[in-house]
Amino acid sequence: MFRKLLSFDETKQLLEQSFSSVPVGEERVSISDVHDRVLAQDVVSPMDIPPFSRSTVDGYAVKAADTFGASEDKAINLRFCGHVAIGEAPAVTVKEGSATEIVTGAPLPDGADAVVMVEYTSRQGNNVFVRRPVARNTNIMTKGSDIHKGETVLKKGRFLGSREIGALAAIGLTQVVVYKRPKVAVLSTGGEVVEPGKTLPPGKIYDINAHTLSAAVLECGGEAINLGIVPDEKDKMKSALELALVSADVILTSGGVSVGPKDFTPQVVDSLGKPGVIISGVAMKPGKPLTIAVVNGKLIFSLPGNPTSSLFMFIVFVRPIIMKLAGRPEESMPKVKAVAAQKMFSARGRRTFTMVNLTYNKDGTLMVSPVPTGLSGAITTMTKADGFVEISEKQQFVDAGTEIDVYLFKKLKKP
Ligand code: AMP
Ligand code: MG
Repeated sequence: MFRKLLSFDETKQLLEQSFSSVPVGEERVSISDVHDRVLAQDVVSPMDIPPFSRSTVDGYAVKAADTFGASEDKAINLRFCGHVAIGEAPAVTVKEGSATEIVTGAPLPDGADAVVMVEYTSRQGNNVFVRRPVARNTNIMTKGSDIHKGETVLKKGRFLGSREIGALAAIGLTQVVVYKRPKVAVLSTGGEVVEPGKTLPPGKIYDINAHTLSAAVLECGGEAINLGIVPDEKDKMKSALELALVSADVILTSGGVSVGPKDFTPQVVDSLGKPGVIISGVAMKPGKPLTIAVVNGKLIFSLPGNPTSSLFMFIVFVRPIIMKLAGRPEESMPKVKAVAAQKMFSARGRRTFTMVNLTYNKDGTLMVSPVPTGLSGAITTMTKADGFVEISEKQQFVDAGTEIDVYLFKKLKKP
């Protein structure tokens, strides 16, 4: 198989041209299961919220005009005419010169246009003494003042978290139409790779990639299908991939993409259908052997076996696509500016991404330095990193003292 390295930018471009990332579909989902999903349609309220004008305090429902002139020294005497219970339609009407006892949340009875707080009243038998005047609509949440019937409550594309789900419940919806989660098949390759939980024979290692990649798929709105581990055997790999093609929207494999005698992944992927492999190596570090194919309109990413590289390739190439397939709003990675604490070199002619740590120095300046390990293949490089920096292929190094952008994996802790 040919190997012509594309630049990082060419790879991004070709990927965009070869595959149109539109949402995979829509489905109707119960509001108890919509957390973390994205609305595929505007939500329009079928009703007014609140559905009736209600009191926002405990007190007396009155006609505002009846309270004008009331003061601490000169209480106005109104006739007590029963009370309104919460959760029931009022049985009384407030007539001129009368007051109805009301509790917070209870519907305002007909005839009333304001509520006096209980603190400014006292009652003796059938007399209610009011010591403060109220204007019309005081202490009332009027019908439809929160949401009115026909109003768009949440727009298509809105991410559904606790606040949004509350709005759906308020208008009585039990289901909404959200984007389907794209199905992403995850396949590990390599005779040395063993599922965690099994005993580890000499020379073997546990499967990291199936787990990092499945979790990463979930994080960007996809559904991971773990297809397990296949040995470095062409026919077994081929049948596993054929199964993946029928069950998934996107396929991720890891391992077997280098130039070793058992690195068959690109060859097998290319034999699955047309157009086959479209990207066969990228001038970048990490991740040079990355292979990308399109087969029957589906994308197959063959990521390197090295766990740090494969997860990083996922972040830069796969994640944005899965997010689009899931209808998720575009989001760029958060970044901060920091000063290089030491010289950082790039790999000659390759876009270089270096995992870094951030620290504040004595003056409070944010400093950035490479994660102290450097060992390729160490999974802890990723867990220790606060983020990464990107060094252009045209640049040989970033000098100590230079200010650079740092892309963040997690929120920055204040000093
Ligand atoms: P390969 O790309 O298959 O040459 O693998 C590169 C390195 O990554 C080797 O040290 C493999 O043992 C290791 N590796 C490959 N697949 C996995 C995996 N699923 N989990 C952890 N390490 C892996
Ligand atoms: Mg391998």
